[in-house]
Amino acid sequence: MNILAFIAHPDDETILTGGTLALLAELGASVHYVCATRGEGGEVGDPPVCSQEELGLVRSQEMTNAVKALGGQSLTFLNYIDPKVGPENELYPFADDSAEVAEKIRYYLQDLRIDVLISHGSNGEYGHPGHLLAHQAACSTIKSLGDAAPLFFSFQASYPNNPKPHLANQQDEAHLILNIEPVLQKKINAALCHRTQHALFIRNTESRTGKKVTVPEVVLPIESLHRQIPAVQNGKLDDPLAQILAEANAVITPAELHL
Ligand SMILES: [Zn+2]
Repeated sequence: MNILAFIAHPDDETILTGGTLALLAELGASVHYVCATRGEGGEVGDPPVCSQEELGLVRSQEMTNAVKALGGQSLTFLNYIDPKVGPENELYPFADDSAEVAEKIRYYLQDLRIDVLISHGSNGEYGHPGHLLAHQAACSTIKSLGDAAPLFFSFQASYPNNPKPHLANQQDEAHLILNIEPVLQKKINAALCHRTQHALFIRNTESRTGKKVTVPEVVLPIESLHRQIPAVQNGKLDDPLAQILAEANAVITPAELHL
């Protein structure tokens, strides 16, 4: 099975869906990564890991290491520039035109003979305009391929008692809730690669929980997927991705969540 993870920024692959991708790699899938930007507009760390000018280069290397930690096969950057965060934490998309982005994704879907595309959800997780743009581009690419299209799943689907509901796409009901505990160390190792983002990871979690945390402690053992295209009929998934995850006993029900 050939899988493409298409994401907007370095670290999205790890924080939003790293366990799922590591698990699929362990189960024998070839997992390829395409990242729209090099995360140039983000934070440099506290204390700074590098200068703002060096950030794109440093984050590219961080993601290269993270993809290795997750067992990925390849990583390609589309070389869009991530706009710097604006006043009052305002966020911006990395391109004006989702059609151009869609065209680029189509190339990789066909070239790599992708069976399953995994990308951002309908609400851009927490509404990030770059994530929303990536989602729109993914949707239009898949629709343009018609019957030849791979399956399209989005990550951070919503489910009851989600410990990080602020990252969940409220419009995307979880079709698969996954226990990624068996590959949790790989996800943690990938998160540790994103050194420039550690201060942000920790700050986000500490401000929400009021507790001191370390990077490994911000990494969750539960992830979720929503099948965007084709739409799920009667709540039943009988596609190859759902099968491989069910056979690996990775799928859990909301009742089994002990968080
Ligand atoms: Zn992002």
